[in-house]
Formats: sequence, C-alpha cells, structure tokens
Amino acid sequence: MKMTDKITALSGVAAKRAALYNKLGIETVGDLINHFPKSYTDYSETVKIADAVVNEQAVIKGFVTKKIPAARIRQGLVLYKVIIDDGSDTLTVVLYNNRFAYEALEPDKEYRLFGRITGGFTRKEMNTPQIISADETNLIRPKYALTEGLSAQMVITNMTEALRSVSEQIEEFIPDDIRQKYELCTEEYACRNIHFPESAHAAELSRRRLGFDELLVMQCAMGLMRDRSREVTGCPMKPADINIFERSLPFELTGAQKKACSEIFSDMCKDVPMNRLVQGDVGSGKTAVAAAACWLAAQNGCQSALMAPTEILARQHFATLKGFLEPLGIKVGCLTGSMTPKQKNEIKAQLQSGELSVVTGTHALISESTEFNRLGLVITDEQHRFGVNQRKLFAMKGEKPHKLVMSATPIPRTLSLIIYGDLDISIINELPKGRQPVETYAVTGKLRSRALGFVKKELDAGRQGYIVCPMIDESEDGIGEVQAAKAYAEKIASGELKGYTVGLLHGKMLPAEKDAVMADFKEGKIQLLVSTTVIEVGVDVPNATVIMIESSDRFGLSQLHQLRGRVGRGKYKSTCILLTDNATEETRARLKIMSTLHDGFAIAEEDLKMRGGGDFFGSRQSGLPPLKIADLYSDRQLLGESSQAAKQLLSASPDLSEYPILKEKVLALINENGSEGMN
Ligand code: ADP
Ligand code: MG
Repeated sequence: MKMTDKITALSGVAAKRAALYNKLGIETVGDLINHFPKSYTDYSETVKIADAVVNEQAVIKGFVTKKIPAARIRQGLVLYKVIIDDGSDTLTVVLYNNRFAYEALEPDKEYRLFGRITGGFTRKEMNTPQIISADETNLIRPKYALTEGLSAQMVITNMTEALRSVSEQIEEFIPDDIRQKYELCTEEYACRNIHFPESAHAAELSRRRLGFDELLVMQCAMGLMRDRSREVTGCPMKPADINIFERSLPFELTGAQKKACSEIFSDMCKDVPMNRLVQGDVGSGKTAVAAAACWLAAQNGCQSALMAPTEILARQHFATLKGFLEPLGIKVGCLTGSMTPKQKNEIKAQLQSGELSVVTGTHALISESTEFNRLGLVITDEQHRFGVNQRKLFAMKGEKPHKLVMSATPIPRTLSLIIYGDLDISIINELPKGRQPVETYAVTGKLRSRALGFVKKELDAGRQGYIVCPMIDESEDGIGEVQAAKAYAEKIASGELKGYTVGLLHGKMLPAEKDAVMADFKEGKIQLLVSTTVIEVGVDVPNATVIMIESSDRFGLSQLHQLRGRVGRGKYKSTCILLTDNATEETRARLKIMSTLHDGFAIAEEDLKMRGGGDFFGSRQSGLPPLKIADLYSDRQLLGESSQAAKQLLSASPDLSEYPILKEKVLALINENGSEGMN
C-alpha cells in the first residue's frame, strides 16, 4: 500500500464509506493519516468506584457482573443497564437505545469505562460511557471529527491498518540538527503517536512535532514566494522636502504619519527597491501617507499606481489623491474594470505616454494591456485581499519599482514580524487630532427600536448612518444575504425610518451600481445606508456618525473594529451599536471588549486570544492558509522556533532544493491555496 493510494485500498472501505471519508476531505491513505484527532479519551488513570466523585468524569476499571434485561421506557426509547464491579463498589452503566454496545459487553469480563459519574448517594451511575476492553494496551484513544454514518470505531480500525501498512514510508524531512535543536521527535513517531499515543507525553511530543511541521511549511512557503531580489531598482530617487507636500494638505500630518513618510522616503532613495508594509489602525490616515509617496515619485519623474480591492475604494482613493496632488501639479487618473472600453483606452494611453503621474484602480491595473511610461512605485491597499501572483504582476509593470503595501487589519505585534517576514514595517498607531473614540454599546434585539430611535436623532441632526446586516443564511451564492439586506432596507424604509432616504449596498450589485450608491451617500443624498459587509474596508464618509450592526456576534472583534471604523472619521462624536439576539455570557464578554478597547492592535490581540489562532486566521483576515494542528496563539513559541528554522533552511538552500520532501510539501501548500490564500 502507498500513501497516495485511494482510501478504498483499506479493508472494509468500499465506495460508500469512501464517500463519507471524502466528505471530510479524505481521498487517500495519506490524507487519512493526516486526519489528526481533535482530542483524546485517556483511559489510563482509573479511580475506584467508591472514590469516584459524582458529576465528574472518571475512568472506571471493573468486571461486568450483571446484565439487566432491556426495558422499553416509551416509544423509541429502550434502556439497557449493566452492573460493573471493581471490588470497591458497584456502578450501574446506562445505555440508551444502544443494543450494539450492550450486547458487546460480556459477563465476567473486565472493561475500562470513561464517562461522567451521576446518580445519588446510594448508587453511582454512568450514562452512555465510552468503553474499551481491559486487555487493550492503547489507553489513550483518539477522538476524530466524524460525519454521519462514519463511526469513531470505523476510523480507528481504518487508521490502525493505514499506519501499519505505510508507516515505513513516512519520511523524515527535517534535518537532524534542527530536530535536535528544537527537540522534535521523528516524523514517523509523530504520525503514529498523534493517533495512538503510548502516553500523554507521547501525544504532546507528536502534536508539537506536527505543529512545528505545519508552521515550518507555511513559513517556508512564504519565504519562497517573497521577493528576495535585492537587485537595483530601476527608479532611484532623490529626497524632497515633505513640507512642500504637507502644505497642500487640508490638515497637518500626525506624528505617526510623518514617521511613516520619512521611513518611506528614505527607502525610496536607496538603490534597492522598497518593500514596506504600512500597518495602521482604521482611520489613521494611510491614504495621505500613500499620497506622500506618490508625490516623491512624481518629484523624481516616476509614475505611481495604487491598486485597491474594490471599485468603491479605487474611486475613493482617486478622489482623495486628486485632492491632495493636483494642486501640486500632479495629474491623477483612475482605471477600473467597469469603465467603458473607450474610457479605459484613454487612461491607458495617458499612462503609456506618461501624461498621468498617478493612477488608482482595481485589478484592471494589472491587465496585460495596461502599460506605463515609467512606473516607479506600486502601492497595494488592503493587501491581504490580493494574491501573491497579482502583486507580482503588478510590480512587473515597472522596472523593479518600489513597493508599498497598506493594511488596515492590525495584526498582533507578536505575529506581524513573523508573518510579514522581511517586509519592513511602518506602524501608524496614532489617530488624527480631534478624533473622539466611537462610543460603543452592545444591546440585545429587544432594544432595536430604541436603537433605531437613536439613529433617527442623528439623521435629524444632519448626520448619516450605516446599518450592517451580516450574512444571515449560509447559501454559497450569497443570494440569501442580499435578500435579507433588501428586505431589511425595505422594512425600515417603510416603517421606523419612514420619510428618510434609505439606500442599499450589497456585494451582488454591479460595480457601477455600488459606486452610484456610494456617491449618493457621500454627497448626503442618502441618509442611511443598509449594507452587507461590503463596506467593511476603507470607505470614508466623515459625516456618518452612527453605525448599527445586526447579529454582531457573528463577527470577529477585528472585523467589528473595521466596521466601527466607518464612523468617527470626522469632527462629530460617533456611536456604534452592536445588536445581538444571542446574549450568552461569552458573547456579552466579547462584545463588551469593543466598548472598552479602541486600539485595533489591542483588539486584534484579544481576538486572537479569544478565538484562537485557527479562527482568527481561518477567517482570512491575514490571508494565511488555515492551520490544522498548530494554533497561532497558544503555539506562539513554536511559531517563533519554526520561523527561525525556516530562515535557516532557506538561507542554506534558497529554493529548498536540498530538502526535496520539505519542498514538495511547501509547493503543495502553495498550490492548494493558489495565489489567493497565501499572504
Ligand atoms: P485609513 O487609514 O483608514 O485608510 P484614511 O486614509 O481613509 O484612513 O483617512 C481617514 C480620514 O482621515 C480621511 O477623511 C482623511 O482625510 C483624514 N485624515 C488623514 N490624515 C489626517 C490628519 N493628519 N489630520 C486630520 N485628518 C486626517
Ligand atoms: Mg484606507
């Protein structure tokens, strides 16, 4: 048998069971081995029945002394009881409707049982325990993610066979010196012991090794994709006095903006291309920093291009850059997919001739037919929304241009150094003067009409507002979400907010339709915008002072912070109302964080802590691939170690060709995630 064999190579796995495995993403024997347990049942520590504490979980080891005949309690409910004796006392085991388990228990045979002890003073009981024979030597038993029709026992049986047949083919791919340095067990040991650990310690060692593998492969993948070229830029620049630029702005730059600008300017005047990330909290004014960089490029006779993930943002950046730069004699254009061929051609001609110095746009910027005269600076906004390939294509439009990426998704400091590897990072951690923190309240749906009353008051005062309806149904096409938002908008427009102009924005609208709605909102023609999460990133309307978020418990904290960042962008005091119909303790605690924390970096840290790394990154906030075993929060130390190891391996063999198995895994990860999933 081989790792790559179909799962049907295992005995007892025919088409039907294979289909169930496929549901879990398991196609081959190797996939099965990589189906790691979620947790374990540990049968090794037993307690005497007499000592077992009621309401606590325990493992009991005892003999079956009596099997009580089945009792039909009512339609559809059959009760099976078995008495277990361990010499200290007896235990009544109760099995509901499980004839199979009942019949499997043999009188006078010894078993280990795991479950919660119930019952009263006189008699201890255990309901539907997990049971293994006392002869069993594997006392730590895996618990797997299952699917209807596929039982734990089936997986255990198939896994046992799979490991027996292919464990010799499990190859070590981490060099010995690294394994020793980080105290890692072998790959083969880890693969066996993650499933059937000899001891709790063995399970931990295996988890550590496999977690290390996962993080190492991820970081090597990023390393491979990173642009390590230290070639000379085609656009060397000379410094210029930023005060000249600043004088054309309607405001003074904050200290943090100035610092970011000076870091960028100094990079752009070196002879290797800049490769810098600007991480800033929402509303910290990253666009002005981007504009400064464009200005410097223009002073040096180079063009700049800023690519945004949506048409709305591309148009908004166009308006902003135009406002900042045209008074200084710098011509700005915009190129998006929804423009007519004629409009596009016109812009493209101006880019080619060099008539335009700065262009903002969407993916249209990287289309083949877009050519530049002398592109010296490429900027990507909300970079995690773009794949590596797209960013590479973008840079190829110029002669080794300087690269700047901007992200409004703060990532905890502990992680950003590792995730962004050798990107230089500028952090804007200061909001413009006069900004007041957005007052944030978490309330239940019962207070919805009071909340709407508050929204009305803001609108009456001449302000504007948003209501966000998150994905309500999970249908893949997103149609349900659109309908829900539509219905919502209609309902409040004809009900509680009658007489006010209510607009609707959702992801299924054509780009031109979205733009039209956003333009109306910006101009104040729409007072209240009901929206799905398409407004999440970047939209800037300083007159909007209230945002109400429905089903806010469905969002991660970082995402809520992004949404909240749509208000509080001007001189007015702003409010964010988080509605939820799920008022559990946990939800309340989570939402409460939003009312006390206003710093995106601190919120990201909390988010990571509460949701665990898996979820935080699973939601693609960073563009990282999902992790199966490691957790970026609790495994921070492992992350650091694997990062060092990745650097060591990549510097020894920049294309990893000296480590063929590792390289294969790395390339597989890159392929699986396409150009989209990876940072
Ligand atoms: P983000 O960092 O979220 O992309 P923007 O660049 O959209 O933020 O800026 C948010 C708002 O703050 C814009 O209206 C912008 O004009 C304004 N702004 C930026 N910098 C300053 C500043 N130094 N002082 C006052 N307002 C500023
Ligand atoms: Mg922005």
